[in-house]
Amino acid sequence: MSDDELLTHQTWADALRDGELLGQRCPECGHETAAPKAACGRCGSRALETVALPTAGTVYTETTMSVVPRGFEGPYQVGVVDLGEARVLARLEGEVAIGDRVELEGALEVDGEVAPLFS
Ligand SMILES: [Zn+2]
Repeated sequence: MSDDELLTHQTWADALRDGELLGQRCPECGHETAAPKAACGRCGSRALETVALPTAGTVYTETTMSVVPRGFEGPYQVGVVDLGEARVLARLEGEVAIGDRVELEGALEVDGEVAPLFS
């Protein structure tokens, strides 16, 4: 992987399917994100580096989706997992609560979109 190439959604999704969570680190201000962005959300720098994020973290927020979009099976749990510097929006499995330690289980594919699955 080359650090001077901006992380694309495709690269991010392919890595996730292989069980690796990629993110970006801003060399200007140190801000990290867990999904591909064109520029730093904090300072706007475009010199973002691709980094491998931890695959274990702590549930920061969670919510149960009882009313789900057509084509989805519910209810299911989604939440934000705190990975240290970065936070990732993920599908949660196994009745987790805020503060629980969770690990990346893999990728969940719905209609061609891929999302990290933690449990
Ligand atoms: Zn920045």
